[in-house]
Amino acid sequence: MSDSRDERSRGHVELRGLTKRYGTDATAVENLSLSLSKGELLVLVGPSGCGKSTTLRCIAGLEDPSEGDVRIAGESVVGLTPEERAIAMVFQNYALYPHKTARQNIGFGLKMTTDRSSETIEREVSRVADTLGIDDLLEKKPKSLSGGQQQRVALGRAIVRDPEVFLLDEPLSNLDATLRSRMRTEIQELQRSLDITTVYVTHDQTEAMTIGDRIAVLRDGRLQQVAEPMACYRRPANRFVASFIGEPSMNFFECRVDASSSRLDGSIAYPATDSLARAARDATAGRVVLGIRPESVTLTGDTPEFEGHVDLIEPVGERSLLYVSLLDGPTVTASVPGDVAVAENDRLTVGMPQRRVHLFDADTGAALRHPTETPSDADGLTDRDG
Ligand code: ADP
Repeated sequence: MSDSRDERSRGHVELRGLTKRYGTDATAVENLSLSLSKGELLVLVGPSGCGKSTTLRCIAGLEDPSEGDVRIAGESVVGLTPEERAIAMVFQNYALYPHKTARQNIGFGLKMTTDRSSETIEREVSRVADTLGIDDLLEKKPKSLSGGQQQRVALGRAIVRDPEVFLLDEPLSNLDATLRSRMRTEIQELQRSLDITTVYVTHDQTEAMTIGDRIAVLRDGRLQQVAEPMACYRRPANRFVASFIGEPSMNFFECRVDASSSRLDGSIAYPATDSLARAARDATAGRVVLGIRPESVTLTGDTPEFEGHVDLIEPVGERSLLYVSLLDGPTVTASVPGDVAVAENDRLTVGMPQRRVHLFDADTGAALRHPTETPSDADGLTDRDG
C-alpha cells in the first residue's frame, strides 16, 4: 500500500457493487455495497448460504470478485494477495498449527511475512499474550488448550499482525453457550480497545444484535438492510429482516384491505384505524402482511383483542412464551412476564395494539409501516394512537 495515502482513510473499508459468481448460474453475492468507518464493527448476518463467507473471503483476498471493487484505506485491493492486504482473519476452526506452541502459533505469521528480528517478534507476542491474558499458556500446544484458550490464541495470531482490518468468520461457533457469550464480550472489548475496523460473520442473530455497531442482513447474496441493531429490530426494511431479527420470530398475518373499509381481513380480522388502512392500501393489490412481535402482544386489555386458548407455555426465565390459538384460526406467540397467571388450555384474550403493528407489502415484502411504540418504550410516554 502506498505511503502517500490519506491518513484519514486508514481503517476505512468499502465494498462497491461486489458481485461473486461461481460458474454460470450461482451468484453467491450480488451487487453488494457497504462502507465501514475506522474502528467500526460491522456484522454480516443471514441464514446459511446467503453469501457472508464469500463476502469476507473477497475482502480477505481469498476470492476474486467477479465484478465490483473492494477498497481498504481508500485504495482498491483487488488483485492483491491476502498478505499484501492489511487484514487479519480468524476462522471458525481457528486453524492453529497442532505441533506448534501457542507462542509459535502467534509469532509464526510475523516470522513468515515480515523481516522483524526474533527479539522484536518475541516482544510483540508477549504484548499480545498479555492483552489476551494468555501469558501462562504460551508454551502449550493447541490440544492441551480449551476451546476458549485456542480461540484466544487464534485472536492473538491475528492481533499481533497489527492489521487495519479484522475479519472474523463465525469465530465462536465451536464454543459452548456460556463460553460463547463470554468470548463475545471479550472480542467486543478487545475490538474497541484496539480500535480495529472489523467485519464479523455470523448466522446467529442474537450474536449479531449484541456485538455489532451495525449489522448488514443478507439473503440470497443480496443486502436487505444495513443499520444499527435496534433499528433493524424496530424498523425492519422488509418482512425477511423482520422475521430474521428478533427471537422468537415476529407473528405474521396475511390480510387484504379494500377501498371501502378500514378492516384488514385475512387470517385475522383486524379493525384498523384510518391511518393504518391508508398505509395498507399502498400495498400491491391491497394485500398486506400484518406483523407483531411476541413481546408486543399484550394480556392487559389492549385493543383490538382476540380470543383464543393457550396451547403451550414455555418458561424462559423472566419471560414465558405463550403459544395461543386464536378462535378464528391462526396461532400467535406472546412473550409475557414469567409470573403471569395463565395455564395451558386456559381461554384468554390477547391484545395486538395498533401502535405496535408492522405492515408489509405481501407481494414485495417491503415495509409499509412501522410501529409507533416498541415494547421497551411501553411506558405511556410515546404517541398512543399510531
Ligand atoms: P454463507 O457464508 O452465508 O453460509 P457462502 O458465502 O459460503 O454463504 O455461500 C454463498 C453461496 O455460494 C452458497 O449458495 C454456496 O453454495 C455458494 N458457494 C460458496 N462457495 C462456493 C464455491 N467455491 N463454489 C461454488 N459455489 C460456492
